[in-house]
Amino acid sequence: MKILVVNAGSSSLKYQLFDMQNESVIAKGAVERIGIAGSVLKAKGNGKEKVYTQDMPDHKVAIQLVLHALHDDEIGVIKSMSEIGAVGHRVVASGEYFKKPTLVDDEVIKTLEEKTFELGPLHNPAAAAGLHACMDVMPGTPMVLVFDSSFHQTMPEKAYMFGIKYEDYKAYGVRKYGAHGTSHKYVSQEAAKYLGKDAKQLKIVTCHLGNGSSISAVDGGVCVDTSMGFTPLDGVLMGTRSGCIDASAVEFLARKKGLDAAKMVTYLNKECGVLGISGVSSDFRDLIAGMEAGNQRCKLALDMFAYQTKKFVGAYAAAMGGLDCIVFTAGIGENTPTVREDVCENLDFLGVKIDKEANNAKGSGIRDISAKDSKVKILIIPTNEELAIARETLALI
Ligand code: ADP
Repeated sequence: MKILVVNAGSSSLKYQLFDMQNESVIAKGAVERIGIAGSVLKAKGNGKEKVYTQDMPDHKVAIQLVLHALHDDEIGVIKSMSEIGAVGHRVVASGEYFKKPTLVDDEVIKTLEEKTFELGPLHNPAAAAGLHACMDVMPGTPMVLVFDSSFHQTMPEKAYMFGIKYEDYKAYGVRKYGAHGTSHKYVSQEAAKYLGKDAKQLKIVTCHLGNGSSISAVDGGVCVDTSMGFTPLDGVLMGTRSGCIDASAVEFLARKKGLDAAKMVTYLNKECGVLGISGVSSDFRDLIAGMEAGNQRCKLALDMFAYQTKKFVGAYAAAMGGLDCIVFTAGIGENTPTVREDVCENLDFLGVKIDKEANNAKGSGIRDISAKDSKVKILIIPTNEELAIARETLALI
């Protein structure tokens, strides 16, 4: 069975085609600048790459071109559309409406469009556009929605509630939903497999540290808490996002800077985080180079990031009443030894001891970087959200 995974953004669309017999990627690519002059599809297949430059005014035209690329003479990997057994779509926000991956029907589309757009205003309309485009060009092929937040739907009420009026939570659905759920689920399952244990026996803290970062407590295979909140602005400071901040400070800053509420949220999302602290970059490679050259603000940004992440590790060990494993994943988690070392430093009291040499060694795949006498396993696990979506899609159909 071949499964197409589609990740549609407002002006972009990434895809991967999996052969689920061996979970290999047989084609992949990305469309950029949908609806903007200069649209382009960069597609790979058959070990070759091809660049298609043509006007793509909307997602439907983009998907048509993707399907064309999938059976192109040079880079094509399929003979007919009927070889694609199903399409898995990444959707960012589920609210409380979708607790798990969901097979698309009319009712599902109605709920997606009428209820979830305001919860994910940047991402969900794009996902719906991608969905409609696929349904138009691949009628009859099962479509599955896989939500970033559904893995977090198992959080208990005491974890997901904010301290606001209960009536307002009920009326407006304002609560913690979390994000990166597909990644947290994937790496926690991979950790259990790697350790040769049943996920049900494990208490894991998964640290998805990338441009956006979130930390989750996974107890017995299910998420019991996570650091992102109503939106992906909450939790630790990130590339350009502030992370959690006292709401009164937000109002105070808005007054001082003359920003309205919407502009203030844009400021907190785009101008803050390690970029705002360092004044140099949102990219951790630049921050490390800056720190090594003696830039104190780069060092501060890195220190804050590791400190805030460490606090979530401690908090979640307390929340779960124990800790068996810490997983580092995503761009920073997989590639930045200094962050991993700083997060694990001084956590001996929890049984966490990192092996510095293993942590600094280059490598690929899953890596165990815990010291021999560490009670807690510390693993680097490359995330693979597309494969996770393909697996969920296959399981559902
Ligand atoms: P996104 O949230 O956009 O998917 P990523 O998971 O790709 O983000 O993470 C981006 C971050 O990861 C950047 O700060 C970057 O510095 C860091 N990163 C990515 N690749 C590497 C690498 N090979 N070496 C060091 N840092 C990396």
